[in-house]
Amino acid sequence: MRSVVGFAIFSAILILGFIFIRYSSSQESHMSTQQQSGIHVTPISHASGILSWGGTTIYFDPVGDQSVFAGKPTADIVLITHEHGDHFSTSTLENVVTPQTTLIVTQTARDLLPADLAARAKIMANGDTLRERGITITAIPAYNLPGVSEKYHPKGVGNGYVLDKDGTRVYIAGDSAGTPEMRALVGIDIAFVPMNLPYTMSVEEAADAVLAFKPKTIYPYHYRGPDGLSDVAKFKQLINAGDPSINVVLLNWYPK
Ligand code: ZN
Ligand code: ZN
Repeated sequence: MRSVVGFAIFSAILILGFIFIRYSSSQESHMSTQQQSGIHVTPISHASGILSWGGTTIYFDPVGDQSVFAGKPTADIVLITHEHGDHFSTSTLENVVTPQTTLIVTQTARDLLPADLAARAKIMANGDTLRERGITITAIPAYNLPGVSEKYHPKGVGNGYVLDKDGTRVYIAGDSAGTPEMRALVGIDIAFVPMNLPYTMSVEEAADAVLAFKPKTIYPYHYRGPDGLSDVAKFKQLINAGDPSINVVLLNWYPK
């Protein structure tokens, strides 16, 4: 009898411990990294981040000085969505691109690269697909819809990217509105979507677009505008209200 009671207490402690760990990890969403689908996300700032995916390190739109990337794993793949200064820096690329790195750019970014990087860059246009290190990369059009933002990102210049590895799919939107191409995406596990007016979209438009393509996990990023940071808590509320199964992860994309 005593051993039965002991076992019951032991089990209860185990269960409580498990619940505590689950609760704790759900509270960690503001920390700097997050494990999801075997993919580790490190926000750098605003539009820049690092994915560690099964031994492959992918930098997207790396911007920042050497100290920002010090101690980070070296880049196997660098993706540039377009040539704007918050996404593209030749001095950063000179630091982070090694001889082993695959550098993927738009034509507009390629035109601004120094000769050594330009010679080795792979240009992707909207709709192009290529395969690198077991990952199929597709360039998705990133652009503003007609309206106030239109002048910033005309269609045909910028890319978003879908990365597909063994059926796990990551979408990095770049500077885009909630375009028909974004809304039509299927099977996305992890998405990064911008929300800052006047350059991309409002949190309401972003939520509406995300609810159309329903990624399993959504990371709001690129949410600083002329009036400060967009209300990503409101974005999370809108997503939770529209589809509670979508995991909204708020990371700190604006370190001091
Ligand atoms: Zn831009
Ligand atoms: Zn931008």
